[in-house]
Amino acid sequence: MSYRLILIGPPGVGKGTQSALLTERLGLKALSSGDIFRREIEAETDLGRLAKRYIQHGELVPNGVTIEMMAKRLRDDDTRKHGFVLDGFPRTVRQAEALDEILFEMEFGLDKVISIEVPEETILHRLAGRMGCTKCGEIYHSRNKPPMREGLCDKCNGPLFVRTDDQPGTILERLRVFRETTAPVIDYYASTGSLLRVDGSVGPEDTYRQIIEAMPR
Ligand SMILES: [Zn+2]
Repeated sequence: MSYRLILIGPPGVGKGTQSALLTERLGLKALSSGDIFRREIEAETDLGRLAKRYIQHGELVPNGVTIEMMAKRLRDDDTRKHGFVLDGFPRTVRQAEALDEILFEMEFGLDKVISIEVPEETILHRLAGRMGCTKCGEIYHSRNKPPMREGLCDKCNGPLFVRTDDQPGTILERLRVFRETTAPVIDYYASTGSLLRVDGSVGPEDTYRQIIEAMPR
């Protein structure tokens, strides 16, 4: 079956895991804005060159450029044939409206917009406590996978560090940004009737099952 899906959720709810399961098991194409930027930049297209300029200056790639890249990828033969799962796009209601227009033009509908929901407290617990090795990149977690010696990597003895992204202040800020900009996207899709809310706190396989059971057959 080929489906056209969107995954929405704040950082730490397991969007990446679900996207990987959906692509592996159903053969859907994973489309994320990050991958699409990289693709265009590597192929040195006009859009890629434009995006690169913003990224190099540490600026956000403007909406118009992102949407155009996404439209191009959605029109690719493999995406048309195998279906897709969008992750990290649309991030705003404006992008959601633009996506609707693209899909309408292609005479495509969305099968489901999946909102993965996890209490914020759980997200904080999941993300805070994550540490990485500065030498080999091994990931640890203060509760789920603590290193044998505090602050040192089991594998290579390298010093461990907490990424800026995983510091509690940064996590709260990312959750706040999600609530403000992306949560309205969930309301938008709730109003179009394609929204599916799944529980992301039950483990990846159970979350995956909730998604599959709700799919049109
Ligand atoms: Zn290490």
